[in-house]
Amino acid sequence: MNLDHLYQEVILDHYKHPQNKGLSVAKDVQVHHLNPSCGDELTLNLSMIEGIVSAVTWEGVGCSISMASASVMSGLLLGKSTDQAQIIFDSFLTLMQSKGTQSGDEEVLEDAVAFSGVSKYPARIKCALLAWMAYKDAALQIANRTA
Ligand code: ZN
Repeated sequence: MNLDHLYQEVILDHYKHPQNKGLSVAKDVQVHHLNPSCGDELTLNLSMIEGIVSAVTWEGVGCSISMASASVMSGLLLGKSTDQAQIIFDSFLTLMQSKGTQSGDEEVLEDAVAFSGVSKYPARIKCALLAWMAYKDAALQIANRTA
């Protein structure tokens, strides 16, 4: 089994069995992000308690890459400190901007390395980044509110 095939399986599995899908009732911030080039839509609820991501839930419609990425992102960032989440976010962003030249740090990104092949397709990068940008937006709003 080659790596591309394995990664496709990981993405499909998250698409079929998404983590943290279904918006939580309680939240500190809700954001709604769109990716018009593909038609992906995502709503994200984020809660932080003392600098830890205590809940990150989402609802959305879109392609398998955007929805699977939301699942992977929410699973990765839940329970992390804002600093740890930033490291993971930066690592994923770098991977997506690598134009297929990087495979990603599996220690940091876990299942998110499955999206490494997406960085070769500029039209799909926004799909993969949709949920991550929504998280970033929500986290910034919370940071600004408590500053
Ligand atoms: Zn898409």
